[in-house]
Amino acid sequence: MKKKIYIIGSGFSALAASCYLSKEGFEVVVLEKNATLGGRARQYKKDGFTFDIGPTWYWMPDVFERFFADFGKKPSDFYLLEKLKPAYQVYFGIKDSITIDGNLDKIYDTFEKEEKGSAAHLRSFMASAKLNYDIAIKDLVYKPGISPLELVTPKTVTKLNQFVSTI
Ligand SMILES: Cc1cc2nc3c(=O)[nH]c(=O)nc-3n(C[C@H](O)[C@H](O)[C@H](O)COP(=O)(O)OP(=O)(O)OC[C@H]3O[C@@H](n4cnc5c(N)ncnc54)[C@H](O)[C@@H]3O)c2cc1C
Repeated sequence: MKKKIYIIGSGFSALAASCYLSKEGFEVVVLEKNATLGGRARQYKKDGFTFDIGPTWYWMPDVFERFFADFGKKPSDFYLLEKLKPAYQVYFGIKDSITIDGNLDKIYDTFEKEEKGSAAHLRSFMASAKLNYDIAIKDLVYKPGISPLELVTPKTVTKLNQFVSTI
């Protein structure tokens, strides 16, 4: 007989855990207190309109690709991704706004026009963010979570000062 596992909640984490447990052969029951699934990423429908309750940015696309690949699928089997151009606009007042393009080189130009020298700072921030992201994905995120020592790797040790300085 299949072992039954109850998962509380239906956000991304619960749904992902449910899929992996089900793949391992467990019978999974998802218990959600709200009327619809999705947690903070659920939708709200009213008067013919659909509102996204939470996420605006499709962050970490590689994580979604890896998740679906674990089940022999890809994101495009379930949803269509369309890059927005421009990416977004920030309004400081009715006639005062800044348009952020979907292309990184154009974003550097926009920053430089706003404030001289800022493009170089943005480039440097992007480079360090990429480095941190790569370390997080390769050395931290997919560890099984059995021991804190899993998080100690030659690369994470070099970044220790970042954690200490933000605590
Ligand atoms: C306004 C906003 C903007 C955001 N923007 C982005 C973005 O642009 N990009 C991005 O990647 N992320 C964004 N996020 C974050 C993202 O939505 C969340 O990180 C993600 O949805 C969290 O998923 P989760 O499964 O960890 O938790 P949740 O989605 O919070 O799921 C928890 C679930 O558990 C249920 N639950 C709790 N207690 C019980 C109980 N006792 N019984 C039954 N059910 C229970 C809750 O109802 C909920 O459905 C945003 C979030 C918000 C709120």
